[in-house]
Amino acid sequence: MNLVKKMNLVNAEKHYNTLNNYYLQKFNKKVFKVSLNGGFTCPNIDGTVAYGGCSFCSALGSGDFAGNKHEPLALQFTKIKTMMHQKWKDAYYIAYFQANTNTHAPLEKLKVLYEEAITLDPNIVMLSIATRPDALPNDVIDYLAELNTRMPVQVELGLQTIHQDTSDLINRAHDLSCFDEAVHRLREKNIEVVVHIINGLPGETKAMMIDTVKHINTLDIQGIKIHMLHIMEKTKMGVEYQKNPWKLLSLEDYVDITTEQILWLRKDIIIHRLTGDAPAEKLLGPIWTKKKFVVTNEIDKNLRKLNLYQGDYYEK
Ligand code: SF4
Repeated sequence: MNLVKKMNLVNAEKHYNTLNNYYLQKFNKKVFKVSLNGGFTCPNIDGTVAYGGCSFCSALGSGDFAGNKHEPLALQFTKIKTMMHQKWKDAYYIAYFQANTNTHAPLEKLKVLYEEAITLDPNIVMLSIATRPDALPNDVIDYLAELNTRMPVQVELGLQTIHQDTSDLINRAHDLSCFDEAVHRLREKNIEVVVHIINGLPGETKAMMIDTVKHINTLDIQGIKIHMLHIMEKTKMGVEYQKNPWKLLSLEDYVDITTEQILWLRKDIIIHRLTGDAPAEKLLGPIWTKKKFVVTNEIDKNLRKLNLYQGDYYEK
């Protein structure tokens, strides 16, 4: 029995490897992420590699995505944990550095933050770090490898697209070889890698988005987060969109593209997300992304209707 079908014994409704099932199998309990803000900036904002950041990024304007960087980690952790427990009473935690580029600091600073984070609570079972592929010097990877022997470490790497023209258009400021190399260097040290991609980037066709997944299949990655492009107020892309709006993907388009990406995706890869979260009051479009459950339900329905599973189109 392949991994997908085996995992679906836990949740027969899904035709792909869900994160919930993965964590249930790994830790034997519900696990949720507690997003911590270590006060990092980003090399694509502060001029280390470029200025201005990715054109869709709201980090410059608001820092939407995590705890308050002015509060100590322990306070951030307690606030978010308490809020999450309203939904899940009994769970383990992942200490998650999410906002901006969470390895963009001297190693000594990283050590202080990460060592504090993993000891905030005895029920923390994993450290997860979101970063860019060009912000992983060897000394940081060596330290993460050592940390990984004490507690599982997961690195989330932003890719967004394999297509250089799109990457230039959105000012990613790194190329595909940089990403591939970062994956290889992390995997040499046995660190789990989760890749972020975005569907609906300007100028991209369905075939281009599927090609991004096909490329990911060639790499030793363990997880993927698939996002719809959110166009947010006070971002470079948002300003351009307000001046001269262009056609965004419809919900039907997104469901169709994402379903096919799942069918192409290697069967062992865990799907962490099929759509993203964006602060509703700052979202310019697409408005349908506010209904996250509708999006995932439509993808689930589509896979069931097709009677196909993750990886059914995958070829080596
Ligand atoms: S790399 Fe991440 S934090 Fe930096 S500008 Fe791009 S999206 Fe924003």
